[in-house]
Amino acid sequence: MTEQSPPSEPPLLEVNDLGQRYKLPRENLFRPPGQVNALNGVSLSLNAGKSLGIVGESGSGKSTFARLVMALERPSSGSVRLLGRDLNRLSAEELRRARRDVQMVFQDPYGSLDPRQTVWRIVAEPLSALGWLDRAETRERVAAVLREVGLREPDMDKYPHEFSGGQRQRIAIARALITRPKLIVADEPVSALDVSVQAQVLNLMQDLQEHFGLSFILISHDLAVVDYLCDEVAVMYLGQIVEQGCPEDLFARAAHPYTRALLDAVPRARAGAIRPRREAPVVGSQALGRAGCPYAPRCVLADGHCREHAPTLREIGARHLAACHKAEAVLAQPAPVEAGEALVSHRH
Ligand code: ADP
Ligand code: MG
Repeated sequence: MTEQSPPSEPPLLEVNDLGQRYKLPRENLFRPPGQVNALNGVSLSLNAGKSLGIVGESGSGKSTFARLVMALERPSSGSVRLLGRDLNRLSAEELRRARRDVQMVFQDPYGSLDPRQTVWRIVAEPLSALGWLDRAETRERVAAVLREVGLREPDMDKYPHEFSGGQRQRIAIARALITRPKLIVADEPVSALDVSVQAQVLNLMQDLQEHFGLSFILISHDLAVVDYLCDEVAVMYLGQIVEQGCPEDLFARAAHPYTRALLDAVPRARAGAIRPRREAPVVGSQALGRAGCPYAPRCVLADGHCREHAPTLREIGARHLAACHKAEAVLAQPAPVEAGEALVSHRH
């Protein structure tokens, strides 16, 4: 593990009160179009060399968060700072240069690699956007990153269809590595892969993290995946962080009923589960302007107070935050995952 940055240096990533609203298609000519609060007041910071996991079910705003961190779109509110620079205040040229520090790996290793390009062109693509290097130097750098992700130099003249899903995700990781970024945002990088291959790709990411002092933001709907790579985990529900802490805290001392429900869905997690009510999830648009805790409609512990007053993210332990009025009651329940009990053993 790398050392923490000295206090004088800004954090690698600092996200402040980040929000994103999307307009929904107009259903009715006589009504204003609806809106989705895809992200709502998210704040966090990440130091160099550390990795952050973001978990939550589909629609909780994880990919929106990733796009905003990558400055692929402008937020409706709040800021994203990378090494102290507010990405949304940079000129196009400054942003282009800032992009070498943060790269992305997507979920679908089939859809995200251009099938008509050879591997070396695919992997070199982020370099050309930065306007660097001649062909020979470029191929040399591609060969180097291919080796780093466990592929071979001759692979660079092949096409994506010649590789398996796991190998394609290695190609995507090589492409992300080529600018020597400080941060890689990986949005569900192993969700499309077989479980055995998932372990290999996660092992690779962990090795890269240790070897280069890289930081990852690892997005997954699967808590077991983030457990394994991350120093810190944020649980998202309807565009908000509802719990945040180190993996040990989240698993052994989950303080939000939603986190416990997620853990209960993971194989081998048991006891102390607080199952959600079987009610359809409230979509973001419905939650707009709604009073009270967004999780209250699904929460078995919710009372009148929860339905009236939205909880804020508060400290319930050292570096452990939860947005729940009932956190203390939840903590008094048996641990959702017992000490020493692995969720799912990814490492072989
Ligand atoms: P996740 O990645 O956690 O599944 P997303 O960030 O993709 O969640 O989506 C969060 C919410 O925002 C969802 O309700 C989704 O339908 C909505 N959303 C995402 N992108 C758009 C968009 N471009 N236009 C309208 N709604 C969007
Ligand atoms: Mg997503």
